[in-house]
Amino acid sequence: MKKIIIAIDGFSSCGKSTMAKDLAREVGYIYIDSGAMYRAVTLYSLRKGYFTEQGIDAEALQRDMPDIHITFKLDPTTQRPQTYLNGENVENDIRGMDVSSHVSPIAALGFVREALVSQQQEMGREKGIVMDGRDIGTAVFPNAELKIFVTASAQIRAQRRYDELKAKGQPASYEDILKNVEERDYIDQHREVSPLRKADDAILLDNSHMSIAEQKIWLLEQFKRVAGA
Ligand code: C5P
Repeated sequence: MKKIIIAIDGFSSCGKSTMAKDLAREVGYIYIDSGAMYRAVTLYSLRKGYFTEQGIDAEALQRDMPDIHITFKLDPTTQRPQTYLNGENVENDIRGMDVSSHVSPIAALGFVREALVSQQQEMGREKGIVMDGRDIGTAVFPNAELKIFVTASAQIRAQRRYDELKAKGQPASYEDILKNVEERDYIDQHREVSPLRKADDAILLDNSHMSIAEQKIWLLEQFKRVAGA
């Protein structure tokens, strides 16, 4: 069986990371959540006070970029990947609404994308990786052997994110989340650098009415077809 790169792109909150994580575990690949990297840079910027009334202090952030180190480690108990920012576990902090509502403008900055994309490419050098995000099949790994583009209606995605936050005991409002999902869709699709779009050779998956179990089977079939398992 050959080792491949699996690129999973799509709109926010459509279950990309759940499916990517499951698939990676199933086939023994490394899983990288590229969105967590943009979220970590956003958390860093919020903490540093780089979001000002006049917009983002891009100059200061660009100066700091070489000192922002993002890594992933598996939680030994849950086996879930945890995001670390300069050695600190920030997994919970990066999932809240504060980071969610500030991440898209950070992800639209060319120098942020350049730095993170080159780290992501380095992570995939040996293949055997599943990476999810917005530009994995188009910019990070244009030669990925398997590309999936996931979508679902904005309402269904907002409901899923709402349920997820509630389950974690975090405050959540469905209306606010829906607004955030729609705003992020818009910014992600209309930004100048690497806008969200389906790669020509990506397979489209609309999972609005699919269960996680159905999706898992579908995905494994795609993997077997391409990797020759
Ligand atoms: O996937 P997630 O929703 O956690 O990603 C957070 C944000 O990071 C997205 O809304 C998008 O703006 C940005 N992102 C990106 N490119 C990626 C992954 C995420 O621009 N590859």
